[in-house]
Amino acid sequence: MSQRPGRRRACPSLVAPMTTGDGLLVRLAPWRCGASAERLVRLAELIDYYGSGDIDLTLRGNLQARGFTSDSARHFAAELDRFIPQPVVAPAVTLEPNAERSTQLLALCDHLIDRLAVEPLLLPPKCAVVVEEHGNYGIGALSADLRLRIADDGYWLGVGGSAFDAHWFHCREQSVACLLDAGVALLTLLAEGSCGQRGRELKRAEALASLLSPYGVTRALPDIHDEAVVLGSRADHALLVAAPYGALSTITLKAVGEWCAEAQATLWPLPQRRLLLLPKKEIDPSCALHELSALGLITHSDDARLAISVCRGAPGCAAAQVPTRPLANRMAEVMAVSGKAGPVHISGCAKGCARPNATALCLVGTSASTIAVVLNGLAYDEPAQRLSLTNGNLTREMCERLVQH
Ligand code: SF4
Repeated sequence: MSQRPGRRRACPSLVAPMTTGDGLLVRLAPWRCGASAERLVRLAELIDYYGSGDIDLTLRGNLQARGFTSDSARHFAAELDRFIPQPVVAPAVTLEPNAERSTQLLALCDHLIDRLAVEPLLLPPKCAVVVEEHGNYGIGALSADLRLRIADDGYWLGVGGSAFDAHWFHCREQSVACLLDAGVALLTLLAEGSCGQRGRELKRAEALASLLSPYGVTRALPDIHDEAVVLGSRADHALLVAAPYGALSTITLKAVGEWCAEAQATLWPLPQRRLLLLPKKEIDPSCALHELSALGLITHSDDARLAISVCRGAPGCAAAQVPTRPLANRMAEVMAVSGKAGPVHISGCAKGCARPNATALCLVGTSASTIAVVLNGLAYDEPAQRLSLTNGNLTREMCERLVQH
């Protein structure tokens, strides 16, 4: 196995945009609540005006807008703050949407942000917090340094990982104040860094339980459900759809906003590039899914595009050797016909940002006209073969042979 190329240590944000191949990229903070139709349309207009109109929905469920200059990013941030206030304190806090205890969760989230505004901590740049009830809609699978959970079986604090592999502590006193104290204590340990700066390091520390015990928490396991996240309509009338490869545009976002206005719906971005739509008006689910599909969104879990992990590629990423999405679309067409649904990893360069795990088939751009084919490996592993592209893309025949692997 080759060595993994370096990763960026901080996430791009409104105050610290990232330079990319198509200008500056800004990442919006996780949404505190679902966005109304009016907010979606306004957001689309602002991104269109100040940026390139190109939007990515990330694997953690954050929106990234592209194509800014340093001036336009500053103006965008100022205007955005007027209708979607952006928290100025770290860490990024992701809230489980549509939870039965959503009022409690929202209050917990706000209390945490208020506490950190008063007692700022120098947290590691990628520090992430999840506030959840059941971890529904894929929130449970989202990795975080700190998890705060309020559910029927009590108040819980999770350290380092997803809901399934975090170290969990039960809060003896069923109170938000105790949970917050324990959570802030854990973030303080991360800020101090004596046991590591990330939750996954801290959870290996032998002293962790004794460090947290003064805050009234003891090691125990909450009741964790592994809910399958299936696209389409749900019994609770919510609709789950996905953005193909995380690609959105202001045209799509505005059209989804207009759809939300019609259905009196709110929208939440979710992990794994999914979107949750919560209509207040009674709608015909199959008709609604048909309309959302016509807007370019994926509405069925068996769509071959969902089996392909693909990074931004050229021209959006300056390091990319090839545009990746045309390759992904060509592969998806062939996979849909063959009935073979991956998984496939398509990477614009050997860094392999889109997928940290090995895949049976990984295609890596190595120049504008060649890709490396890695079998059962990572983007930076030794390729089994190299293929020449035709007009910057794979031919259908090449895809058919690759799919047979
Ligand atoms: S893997 Fe993709 S997104 Fe990451 S640096 Fe390479 S081209 Fe850019």
